[in-house]
Amino acid sequence: MDPGAKILSLEQMDQWVAAEKAAGRRIGFTCGSFDLLHAGHVQYLAAARDLCDRLIVAVNSDASVSRYKNPLRPIVPERERMYVVAGLASVDAVTLLEDDRPLSLLLRWKPDLYIKGGDYQADELRSGEDVRAYGGKVEVIRPGFDTSSSKVIERIGTLATHAQPEAASAAQARGLVLLDRDGTLIRNIPFLHDPANVEILPGVIEGLLKLQAAGLQLAIVSNQQGIGLGYFTVQDFIAVNQAMLRELGARGIRISKIYFCPHSLAEQCACRKPAAGMLVRAMRDFKAAPEQTFLMGDSDEDMQAGAAAGCRTVRADEGAFGPATQLILSLLPDLVT
Ligand SMILES: [Zn+2]
Repeated sequence: MDPGAKILSLEQMDQWVAAEKAAGRRIGFTCGSFDLLHAGHVQYLAAARDLCDRLIVAVNSDASVSRYKNPLRPIVPERERMYVVAGLASVDAVTLLEDDRPLSLLLRWKPDLYIKGGDYQADELRSGEDVRAYGGKVEVIRPGFDTSSSKVIERIGTLATHAQPEAASAAQARGLVLLDRDGTLIRNIPFLHDPANVEILPGVIEGLLKLQAAGLQLAIVSNQQGIGLGYFTVQDFIAVNQAMLRELGARGIRISKIYFCPHSLAEQCACRKPAAGMLVRAMRDFKAAPEQTFLMGDSDEDMQAGAAAGCRTVRADEGAFGPATQLILSLLPDLVT
């Protein structure tokens, strides 16, 4: 059975509730955002279902989660959150909760039980009095796991700030290669924002493997004026990078960091190449001296930015990545390490 069949509109739920009540079944109701489903949710909903014959879950709409929780949440859109909840065996019907509070739905369907998970007493619940007034009962289920969507998100955020430990035997990096993206690593498509159009240029995989094997770290410095102009979003840019990193990663290539300028030309920022901002920042982050740093790109702006930052510049036009790599490798013995 497709879980989607359990997702009902308010009107469909009216009929469903009437039929279940007519059949003499005890109806339980609960609500929540269920942004990232975790063990606490599953335990809670299973325990709620044990208290009744049929369990309704009202999932907070995206707008209501943004209002009552955090303007940046939810992470998962309402359609998908409802679908995931509907996939649980303990859940019989799912609907959308547009309001911040479930009172209007409780009064509409008058379920036998209003069930909440948490650490409070049943008489502390704001809707409790209204539920008791129509003859319903309030039940509180204590959490069985010390977890929450917020804790999961915090953990992911913490992981993201930690550098991956280097292998114990890894030698000190000999230098840094800053790579332009469009026209250097991947086929240049103006305002590229569709991951399906990512095409790694010839010679790039082999070249990057050689640079990496020579002890050089790899990072990207990319102008993305399309973001500033509103042609595509940062999320689009990241999705394109993800497609590219997936292909490179499958070949054993590790890009350590991606620097990008999201500004339009008119904003006159300090990071858009030919300015040196992104390169200077990268050298600082990687503790690489300019003479240990190479800028590979396919445009005059790239070369000017590299020169302004004091790096060595290597031109790698589309298809010329191999010879450019050879040039860098030939310069390596001169590096101050
Ligand atoms: Zn910028």
